[in-house]
Amino acid sequence: MEASSAGLPLEVRISPSGAGRWAGGHPWIYRSDLRSPELPKSPAVVLVRDTRGHSLGWADYSPRSEIALRRLCADPSAVINREFWRRRLQDAQAWRQRVVSGSEAYRLVAGEADGMPGLVVDVYGAALSYQITTAAMAAREPEIVELLQQLFSPALLVARNDARVRLQEGLSLETRLMVGDSPLARARVHGLEIEWDLLAGQKSGGYLDQRENWRAVAAWAQPGMHCLDGFTYQGGFALHLAARGAQVEAVDLSRPALERAERNAQLNPFGPIAWMEANLFDLLREYDAQRRSFDLIVLDPPAFAKSRSALDSASRGYKEINLRALKLLRPGGILATCSCSHHVSESRLLQIVAEAALDARKRLKVVERRTQALDHPVLLTVPETHYLKCLIFICEDVNY
Ligand code: SAH
Repeated sequence: MEASSAGLPLEVRISPSGAGRWAGGHPWIYRSDLRSPELPKSPAVVLVRDTRGHSLGWADYSPRSEIALRRLCADPSAVINREFWRRRLQDAQAWRQRVVSGSEAYRLVAGEADGMPGLVVDVYGAALSYQITTAAMAAREPEIVELLQQLFSPALLVARNDARVRLQEGLSLETRLMVGDSPLARARVHGLEIEWDLLAGQKSGGYLDQRENWRAVAAWAQPGMHCLDGFTYQGGFALHLAARGAQVEAVDLSRPALERAERNAQLNPFGPIAWMEANLFDLLREYDAQRRSFDLIVLDPPAFAKSRSALDSASRGYKEINLRALKLLRPGGILATCSCSHHVSESRLLQIVAEAALDARKRLKVVERRTQALDHPVLLTVPETHYLKCLIFICEDVNY
């Protein structure tokens, strides 16, 4: 990591609009807001100043990314050293002790939301999986790994440095088993035994952000209900629904995900789940033609809108699956529909589902408006931290 020659901190000045953003609580400063004539050539911790020279605090500087500065601390007198990172990790742990219940798997560090930009750490029982996505955090990776080992003594530690955003920071993609000799990790989640392959799964292994929604949606199920888990991945919703005695069909495009889901079902003592490898768009159309019906349907698609420009086509995708699902719901049936795209706001998703309901001639009652699990904190001044929506509706005929 770069440091100034005289032992003085490196400094970066930012424009008044950048300083306004900083004062507004947002941790990112874009390159267009930098005002220093010279900038560090490599990743560095820098003291941020406004154009009048007032120091604002400390930030990580990324030489390649358009997000040039990421706030570490708004206190200019803070010292960004090993002790700083140890305290940040301990604070993150304290928050999880406060908000995580009933699960040995959870997100321990959620990047900016925990004041550790570019670092995500997930816990799966005795295992830890981490991901670094910024150049400055990558420069201190050995220190972070040591701290994780000292503080949490994981039996298994996996580096999942394979997120494509790393390329924008000039970082390579790699996954590595740092501690332990098998990437398989087990944890109990809401009384269920679940196993993850931390090297092979999507994300760091699982979609832990949906964890509280698995339980919340399953709370609406009753024994014998016919349920469809639309984009099941490794069966998060399906397993929780089956644990309530429901009859579950679970669909995904990914065979490896379904195979792991099936192994997880075998670890738990409940009736069979029908795992199906299919494209849900096609399957819903077929089921409509066959006049199939369900009591509860979960739709948790991948982010259709990865950028703002994709919003229109994404909205059409969301509308289509919701419309098709609604047609298959019996009166009194439950729809749980999710979007993990930050660009699709909750109000936009509500509007899309409303349009789908009108076209399907159904009347929906909103019964829950949920978001990501609390170990993925939503910061009020950082809209990007609120990305997951999970809306639950009860569906009636429009003629009611
Ligand atoms: N519900 C899961 C997470 C789903 S992630 C959980 O809570 O853990 C989205 C999933 O959708 C991925 O597993 C992906 O393989 C699957 N997928 C993407 N497009 C699909 C399609 N057209 N039909 C069915 N599954 C699809």
